[in-house]
Amino acid sequence: ENTQLKDIIAHAKEYGFVYPSSEIYDGLQAVYDYGAYGVELKNNLKRLWWETMTRLNDNIVGIDAAIFMHPTTWKASGHVDSFNDPMIDNKDSKKRYRADVLIEEKAAQYAQNGEKERGQNLLNAMARLLEAEDLSGVRDLIINEGIFCPISGTSNWTEVRQFNLMFSTQVGSVAEDASTIYLRPETAQGIFVNFLNVQKTARMKVPFGIAQIGKAFRNEIVARQFIFRMREFEQMEMQFFVRPGSELDWYKEWADTRMQWHKALGIPEDKLRRHDHEKLAHYANAAMDIEYEFPFGFKEVEGIHSRTDFDLKSHQEYSKKKQQYFDPEINQNYIPYVIETSIGADRLFLMTLCNAFVDEEVEGKQRTYLKFHPAIAPVKAAILPLVKKDGLPEKAKEIVEALKYDFNIIYEEAASIGKRYTRQDLIGTPFCIAVDHQTLEDNTVTIRHRDNTEQERVAIPELHARLSDACSF
Ligand code: ATP
Repeated sequence: ENTQLKDIIAHAKEYGFVYPSSEIYDGLQAVYDYGAYGVELKNNLKRLWWETMTRLNDNIVGIDAAIFMHPTTWKASGHVDSFNDPMIDNKDSKKRYRADVLIEEKAAQYAQNGEKERGQNLLNAMARLLEAEDLSGVRDLIINEGIFCPISGTSNWTEVRQFNLMFSTQVGSVAEDASTIYLRPETAQGIFVNFLNVQKTARMKVPFGIAQIGKAFRNEIVARQFIFRMREFEQMEMQFFVRPGSELDWYKEWADTRMQWHKALGIPEDKLRRHDHEKLAHYANAAMDIEYEFPFGFKEVEGIHSRTDFDLKSHQEYSKKKQQYFDPEINQNYIPYVIETSIGADRLFLMTLCNAFVDEEVEGKQRTYLKFHPAIAPVKAAILPLVKKDGLPEKAKEIVEALKYDFNIIYEEAASIGKRYTRQDLIGTPFCIAVDHQTLEDNTVTIRHRDNTEQERVAIPELHARLSDACSF
């Protein structure tokens, strides 16, 4: 892993953002826990997504479906039969790899060495083999390309096998009655099976959307790159139901809207790019990713897919329940088409963290801080009495009382003011509010700004409005 990512992982752990899961037992691969500041940041990101979806669009409503679903759901969605990754083991190191990722990495190497076409040909060859389900062909490709295991350095590979990414478990207390159910690998299906419930009870008219935030689980073979690829993660998905034939216009519209959203979060334009899929999943008639330049390269953060009527139609077939909508404007019954926007909350978190991480040298001294947009910063302001006496702590606590109902505030009186500023920089608090002796005389405080460390004098009654302004988009 590259050094910048290593620094970010270490920072996230040391300053209460993200820890490896069950760390005292040496962790659990690809599972992570969020700490005091991490959970605040994540909640802020989720809230922001939720509010832009459901509040700013009067035709989008929310839902919170269960993680467990009837097993037939996953038959209908295609996950039981085809939610697979091709995997391969190295016989010497006993390490398991995703066959397609090994080939993609080789192709990327070619491209890096100026052999772009050769890389592209390799990717095309792989796509053809996977399409034809020719797994031994994929293995031959790996061997012919001289792809070695990075651990053992050999090309002593096993067969390539398809590996289903869904976790399963049993419901029912008695063995005979137990049946296999899955932990949902995506939140979308909870929306599809509730399409008519929501449409009727919230009295929605096509076009309309349903938004959901919730956990999803995938038994990822390659679990790397910190919280980029996890086995338990959170998705934020919105399915937008439209009249057949209008889907590509809506697809374009959502692709633009979502790109704008990322820019509004403060992600620079040159760090974002749009990747249009050439090879489409069986259910899609258009698909793209919004990619961000992570320390390990441009990678998908969000997917926007035109899923046609694949899911609703399939649920209608399997459930034998009509999934049609009567459109009063054109006097017709139809199964709506769907545009979906799908983003991982954890990946969004990682993007935000990578984008905020600043480690720079100022006048010969190293300074590290997290430059979050104030709207998503875990803590909005730290209230700091200059000294622990002369009535300054009491005055500072009055300010905490006045602000804490609307903002996440920290009060801190230990250590020198400089040390306390540094600590707030490290967790990305945009404002430090210092209470000093002058405060007792004129009811003003100093606000110290995180990004440029500049200070200004502000009257206490103005603080609330100042924070409100800064913490909105
Ligand atoms: P990838 O190609 O990276 O595996 P995907 O194309 O399978 O992703 P989708 O099924 O489209 O991803 O899921 C939508 C979003 O959910 C992704 O853009 C990503 O933000 C998030 N996501 C998917 N898998 C994971 C994971 N294992 N860990 C964290 N986030 C994930």
